[in-house]
Amino acid sequence: MDARCYVDGAWVGGDRWFPVTDPASGEQIGRAAEADVTLTAAAVEAAHRSFGSWAGTTAGERGDILREISANVAHEADRIVELIVAEQGKPVSQARFEVSYAREWLDWYAGEARRVYGATIPAGRHDKRLVVQRRPLGVAVAITPWNFPVAMVARKLAPALAAGCTLVIKPAEQTPLSPTAFIEAAVATALPPGVVNLIHASDPSSISEALLCDPRVRKITFTGSTEVGKALLRVSAGHLPRMSLELGGHAPFIVFEDADLEAAVRGVLASKFQVAGQSCLCANRIFVQESVEERFTQLLADAVSGLRVGPGRLDDVSVGPLIDEAGFQKVERHVADALAAGAHLVTGGSRLTGGDYDGGFFFAPTVLSSCTDGMLLAREETFGPIAPILCFDDEADVIERANSSAYGLAAYVYTRDLGRAWRVSESLEYGIVGVNDPTPATPSAPFGGFKESGMGREGGHEGIEAFLETKLVSFVA
Ligand code: NAP
Repeated sequence: MDARCYVDGAWVGGDRWFPVTDPASGEQIGRAAEADVTLTAAAVEAAHRSFGSWAGTTAGERGDILREISANVAHEADRIVELIVAEQGKPVSQARFEVSYAREWLDWYAGEARRVYGATIPAGRHDKRLVVQRRPLGVAVAITPWNFPVAMVARKLAPALAAGCTLVIKPAEQTPLSPTAFIEAAVATALPPGVVNLIHASDPSSISEALLCDPRVRKITFTGSTEVGKALLRVSAGHLPRMSLELGGHAPFIVFEDADLEAAVRGVLASKFQVAGQSCLCANRIFVQESVEERFTQLLADAVSGLRVGPGRLDDVSVGPLIDEAGFQKVERHVADALAAGAHLVTGGSRLTGGDYDGGFFFAPTVLSSCTDGMLLAREETFGPIAPILCFDDEADVIERANSSAYGLAAYVYTRDLGRAWRVSESLEYGIVGVNDPTPATPSAPFGGFKESGMGREGGHEGIEAFLETKLVSFVA
């Protein structure tokens, strides 16, 4: 597929393209048009020009268009799924889930557009009225990662359009094809030209200034690594756009001795091995209470060694490849460091090669026991299919260790003790806590991190608030 840019209602391909490869084989499967500074500025200009009329539509009209986009995405779902699998590597079932999850965001914000309420405030004089209005911010720039290439675009596009903002979207260079197919479906609706623009870049620093430092850009919504998030904050600081940053995670997954251990194992499988462990929400440190550590480790090892690894297009595969060589090397480094520091390899632990694995970045789903807090994998986001087990004594011990991270996105607690569930969930310094729930993210609830996992929230009413400005109109009559 050729993924072109979409600017001011027209598909644009230029002289310069960059290749897109399948992480399962290393083969080129398409290419994307490289946006330069001029095209980037044209996208911002188009979004700026169309803002007034788009902001002037009714909430009902914007909701109708979001529903139309959702219906078109459903119609194109097979093609979008195929592209996600080809460029991202995840199994077909997970790609299908991603497309339906993306549609949930569109559908939910189609309704939420109507619930942008203002307020009237009692004034201090009889002839005065204080009215608070909510207004769309203006042009929003959305920058998204490769692990959920379509869902991350939908998570930004849906609330932005619902609020009345216009958009310039830049997907990750590894996965430009499926977002392009998603935008093709989105713009084959009554959406006016210029409201949604899409640009691709293999070296985003070359267009960064045009994208982020233009004073017409009033909102930057970014999902990606903490490092890049901080850099974007610095680069754009000059004109103070509103920022939403959804950044990295380092989730503790805490299993108490009273937990349903089988459910906890299923929870680890759902949280840790989705997208081959390349998810910001995925369990990164599995804390298991000492008295059940041996049994839990055995149950987890049995389940993990049954996972089928392979190219996502094959039936029954539940773990695909890592995205690229850099991601692969980080996983290798974390495993080697843990083993050198005394971790015990229970299952997995190495690259998979031969047959369907050749040319791809496949790492065996791995369980490591006897891990400790000083190991790299207990300090950094691994972003791979590695499940490190760390032992703990009691509640106080595990809460302190779980919170001793600069990240604060998601945490998980498995227990059947209601009092403990409340105490621990309230003590965890994390934006999202799943109690006996490995998949807490949903469009209707706020999603985001404490500390260096970001600022702002996507999802729920807070998700649309992020694209709104507050205006006080004070009347004297
Ligand atoms: P990344 O390297 O930070 O890149 C994210 C996006 O930023 C990509 O589109 C990238 O473009 C772009 N980018 C990088 N430098 C830029 C610059 N100077 N100017 C403009 N754009 C720039 O992250 P990633 O490797 O794609 O994704 C993995 C990270 O995302 C992990 O840390 C994960 O935890 C995090 N994540 C967080 C959430 C959440 O909701 N909190 C969800 C998913 C993922 P290029 O691809 O062209 O470099």
